[in-house]
Amino acid sequence: MLNGRELAIFRKQLLEWFRQFQRDLPWRRTTDPYRIWLSEIMLQQTRVAAAIPYYERFLQRFPDVHALAAAPQEEVLRLWSGLGYYRRARNLQKAAQQIVAKHGGQFPARLDDVLALPGIGNYTAAAILSIGFGEKHAVLDGNVARVVARLGAIRGDLREPQRWQELQKNADRLLEPKSPGDWNQAVMELGATLCTPKSPQCLLCPVAQFCEGRKLGIAECLPEKRKKRATVEVTLAAAVFADGNGQTVLLPPPKNTREKASADHVPTLVSKMWHFPTLAVTGEPAGNLIAFLRKMLPGVQSRKWQLVPAAKVRHAVTYRAITLFPFLINVKKLPRILGAKQVPLGDITNLPVSNLTRKAARAALAIAALARAKQ
Ligand code: SF4
Repeated sequence: MLNGRELAIFRKQLLEWFRQFQRDLPWRRTTDPYRIWLSEIMLQQTRVAAAIPYYERFLQRFPDVHALAAAPQEEVLRLWSGLGYYRRARNLQKAAQQIVAKHGGQFPARLDDVLALPGIGNYTAAAILSIGFGEKHAVLDGNVARVVARLGAIRGDLREPQRWQELQKNADRLLEPKSPGDWNQAVMELGATLCTPKSPQCLLCPVAQFCEGRKLGIAECLPEKRKKRATVEVTLAAAVFADGNGQTVLLPPPKNTREKASADHVPTLVSKMWHFPTLAVTGEPAGNLIAFLRKMLPGVQSRKWQLVPAAKVRHAVTYRAITLFPFLINVKKLPRILGAKQVPLGDITNLPVSNLTRKAARAALAIAALARAKQ
């Protein structure tokens, strides 16, 4: 553990490095808690480069909490479309509505109030409060935990509750109380740029002289590997109808779905968004799909339907490895399905859709183009 003098030097060196070398990111140019919050939510599970255009578009349309709270949910999801993990967007809007209802549209500054908002855990609360309000809360997520574990040569599974608590205590001890916002960002920046998961660049590290992991020669082996949840293979088949005008049919986001779903639970796999008629299959995809469509559309003449197989789509949702077989079905008239909408197949992102649905649409468009070229 660092003594008082070492701790002061450690903090000074890391902060100076951060202030000199930090990347210029849009959310670093503000202390507005709304913007900090949005960036932190977007950066969960998403790389910085991918998040930036979404962040900017989102703020153009929803510049403050009031605008986000009042928007139709479909529009919020449409602007999130492509970022994945759509529960983040739903929670973001729910939280905005609570901020308007309970806090007059002002982002709350008390930890308890922030933690009571949907989708905000300890890490996000600490980030918003330290950067937006200068409160002394040390952040701890996987990125920071790796840095703290290497600095203290902490072994074992970092996500074990006791070890996580130890890491939080270490992070709290290291926190620079005079600039908690900059401090937290400095530790995050170190983890994102130098103290990366593979091959940490210790020679460039501003706090290398204090790093126990480096001294012991084990920095690269930390954190120790966690047991991964086994991957589950899921096979789906989807019907991509297309009429002569290039229109297709999408089903609405499923309602009242269980949060704890089975591995092949279709609403979860389409991120509870607009989607093609889809089912999980165990046998032959085309036969399963036609039986499913007949059941869904009992009065419809389906005998003449020809299912044209498009290229299969691979996609991953958490621990599930999905193989989706899209089938293009050219029809004169699109089937009428309760709650469904007709949209151009070439522009399905008019509605909020998941990446899986986008990939299915692309595969169907490619096979349609190929068929046209052969005619
Ligand atoms: S010395 Fe290396 S392992 Fe230690 S904090 Fe710096 S980059 Fe990470």
